Amino acid sequence: MEELIGPRLYICCNCRSHVAFHDDVISKAFQGRNGRAFLFSHAMNIVTGPKEDRQLMTGLHTVTDVYCSDCHEVLGWKYERAYEESQKYKEGKYVLEKSKIAKENW
Ligand SMILES: [Zn+2]
Repeated sequence: MEELIGPRLYICCNCRSHVAFHDDVISKAFQGRNGRAFLFSHAMNIVTGPKEDRQLMTGLHTVTDVYCSDCHEVLGWKYERAYEESQKYKEGKYVLEKSKIAKENW
């Protein structure tokens, strides 16, 4: 007997659309706007808003808000550009608020 187990996923907690794979988690120690947040290398079924410069705890960054493409709930943000050399690894990465996502297939 073979058991089919899909990849572990994170889903939008509002509409349950798949938004990221567990394998794409880079860090679980991020600070979101409303508590803990996770950094992902990729996200799916999302849309991004206009770019804006934000002064964050770790310096100036160009970011865009990230919305669920199905229900348009704000899930977090994407780093488009980091100005500090030590923060460059975040460019093109997604931060999703822990309170906005749920686990599936765990
Ligand atoms: Zn959604």
